Amino acid sequence: MTFPDVQGHCPACGATSLFLADGGYITCSRIECPEPDAVTNLLVRKPAGPRLAVGAVTRELLQTAIRDLARLDPEWWRCELERMARTAHAVNQQIAMGSRP
Ligand SMILES: [Zn+2]
Repeated sequence: MTFPDVQGHCPACGATSLFLADGGYITCSRIECPEPDAVTNLLVRKPAGPRLAVGAVTRELLQTAIRDLARLDPEWWRCELERMARTAHAVNQQIAMGSRP
């Protein structure tokens, strides 16, 4: 029996090595993959709390999430930007004064 390939990247190792395994589970075929069932864990199992494999959090995912949040609540996003700017300013000051490596 051959297992069909699945488009996309494995969230655990980033390789394009996903295939549809027995029982309909998307699995990574790389022997060195740290979590071959990462897609199944994301799609099938319902964890108690929010859970994301670190490898699954891509820059695009974060940018999309931030864009959506900013569109839904522009006032919240404006406050976040100001807070980040204040934090960056404080850190830059600490670096300039030599109290932070
Ligand atoms: Zn993998």
